[in-house]
Amino acid sequence: MVEVEGSFVKVEAGMVLGCDGVGSTVARKAGFDMEGYEVIPTVQYIVVNCKIEEQDKAHFYLGNEVAPKGYAWIFPKGDGVANVGIGVRGKPAKSYLDKFIKQHPGMFSKAKVVEVKGAPVPIGGMVKELVKPGVAICGDAAGQVIPLTGGGIHSSITAGKIAGELAARAVLEDAPQLMEEYPKLYEDPWGKRIYNSLKALRAIEALSDDELNKLAEIITGEDIVDLARGLNIQRVAMKFIKHPLFAMKLAKKLLS
Ligand SMILES: Cc1cc2nc3c(=O)[nH]c(=O)nc-3n(C[C@H](O)[C@H](O)[C@H](O)COP(=O)(O)OP(=O)(O)OC[C@H]3O[C@@H](n4cnc5c(N)ncnc54)[C@H](O)[C@@H]3O)c2cc1C
Repeated sequence: MVEVEGSFVKVEAGMVLGCDGVGSTVARKAGFDMEGYEVIPTVQYIVVNCKIEEQDKAHFYLGNEVAPKGYAWIFPKGDGVANVGIGVRGKPAKSYLDKFIKQHPGMFSKAKVVEVKGAPVPIGGMVKELVKPGVAICGDAAGQVIPLTGGGIHSSITAGKIAGELAARAVLEDAPQLMEEYPKLYEDPWGKRIYNSLKALRAIEALSDDELNKLAEIITGEDIVDLARGLNIQRVAMKFIKHPLFAMKLAKKLLS
């Protein structure tokens, strides 16, 4: 049943794709196995009159004081405008974001928040079940987000494209079994990366602030990008395999 202008209409479809975001109604109603699905609260402000150096860079702030088991970000947009946001776990996101802004008067003493957005982001990795007879789920609905960054636009679009094309063929060719190809076709571009990035997230979130500071001294930009994207995490693991602290706390977990 679909609600249209206040009344319910019965709609029939050869195939239903649930691309309806976090807390997907389709996933819930169709009884998908959502084990491991985990969301964190995020809040993002659009802020004007900021004074941010290095306008051409995205800025990330980690640490249990700043953003418990998450991070704060500043995306400069030019002309003193920036997206300033935070994602945390188990704590109220907005109060941590307000504290973060107060603690950086150099950037924000004259700043004004002009827009507030908040939404949960699924960071627990992709759910195991993507397809059931006559229905499939894509994007945030299926946890197809890179866990370490919370980025899900690119990975969700790819899922929608793969599932959409298969669904069209499945209906036109009366071949519903084609939908079984969706998880397989998704695995190579994104499924593995989401899984690897989740491993990196689990390892990094277990580090104390002291350990994060030590890691910051030896990790390179390339390492961070590889971990965040879930690419080449074995290369990063091998770099830390003989380190007295990070062999166990990072390398072993990345290689597991
Ligand atoms: C604050 C914040 C910042 C982010 N920043 C980034 C970023 O910089 N880069 C990045 O890659 N990702 C980012 N993300 C994540 C990204 O936005 C999502 O992963 C992505 O939008 C998921 O796309 P989706 O189509 O699966 O879900 P959505 O974008 O949530 O779309 C789902 C759609 O379904 C509709 N819908 C739901 N239920 C119903 C219903 N019953 N009937 C009709 N329509 C319905 C919703 O209205 C919505 O339009 C951010 C997320 C947040 C919260």
